[in-house]
Amino acid sequence: MILVVAGPGGVGKGTVVSRLLELDPQLWLSRSWTTRPRRPGEPPDAYVFVDRESFLHHRDADGFLEWTEFPGNGHLYGTPRVEPPEGRDVVLEIELDGARQVRAAYPDAVVVLVVAPSTEEQESRLRARGDDEASVARRVAVGREEEAAGRGLADHVVVNDDVERAARELAGIVTEHRARR
Ligand code: 5GP
Repeated sequence: MILVVAGPGGVGKGTVVSRLLELDPQLWLSRSWTTRPRRPGEPPDAYVFVDRESFLHHRDADGFLEWTEFPGNGHLYGTPRVEPPEGRDVVLEIELDGARQVRAAYPDAVVVLVVAPSTEEQESRLRARGDDEASVARRVAVGREEEAAGRGLADHVVVNDDVERAARELAGIVTEHRARR
């Protein structure tokens, strides 16, 4: 199974997914590549951090399952084609354009859209993460479009009003889809 967790930046997708992985050890998180520089305090393995040239080289070698230029910051992000360990289900935490590509390639993929309970909440999360005001404004604008598009694509929409609750809702969605297979 491929679980795509998509949604605008600053909705707390990452935190919800971390908790989801604790709740369900059968899940395996794919590590993306990005050309964005590492944020202060961000773990070195949050992404495979590469320069644009290496990214494009990998793309040209068909090394990505999906990739995109993220309008929020102009950087490239992609999911490398890697096999998950035996018996594990793959989780992709990506933005909407990528989710669309995954859905096209794998119609069975389960797409969940995570949304913030409010714009104020989303802005304060982006600020807390160290984004400057221009970046916050841009990401909120991009996020609005993403949310609208995502509602059309997603199989489920989860409101991140509380991390634990949202993660449990997601875990329930995973269990339900596994049972159907
Ligand atoms: P950030 O720079 O905040 O870590 O990520 C920016 C956006 O890119 C987020 O919405 C994140 O989910 C998305 N993203 C991260 N990795 C990938 C990826 O491999 N592919 C795509 N399409 N989006 C990604």
